[in-house]
Amino acid sequence: MKLYTCKYCYKEFEPTRRRVQQYCSNTCRSKAHHKRKSENNKITTNNKLSTTPPLPSTPSKTKIDSMSTSGIGNAAIGNLIADGIKSIATSNKNKPATKGDLDALKNLLTSRYLPINNMQIDQFGNRPYYDIETKSVVYLKG
Ligand SMILES: [Zn+2]
Repeated sequence: MKLYTCKYCYKEFEPTRRRVQQYCSNTCRSKAHHKRKSENNKITTNNKLSTTPPLPSTPSKTKIDSMSTSGIGNAAIGNLIADGIKSIATSNKNKPATKGDLDALKNLLTSRYLPINNMQIDQFGNRPYYDIETKSVVYLKG
């Protein structure tokens, strides 16, 4: 007599019926059926879950990732642009500021030191200027 292995409890059993018996008992059969049903339900729910959250969760995750990456990229680009603008702005500001400072200094110098026309250039070739701040005559090169 050929023994069958129960597909549920994996016990070997003598088939009581003539046709192929998959389970040792109705209990195992129903349990297996229930299990398979629940597994199917699980699978269907999983499929539903995977069609709703996991499947789009993977693309949505990648979407989010790509979005965040692109967001980071955009942010980085934005920062770069901002930094570039900033650096350009600062450099533009600084360069004219330095130039402006020099100009201001020049203006200050020219305004502080007023050339005196009725005095002679000194022995070193320096021109006489009236220093507004010290209120005295100074000889400056130029
Ligand atoms: Zn069994």
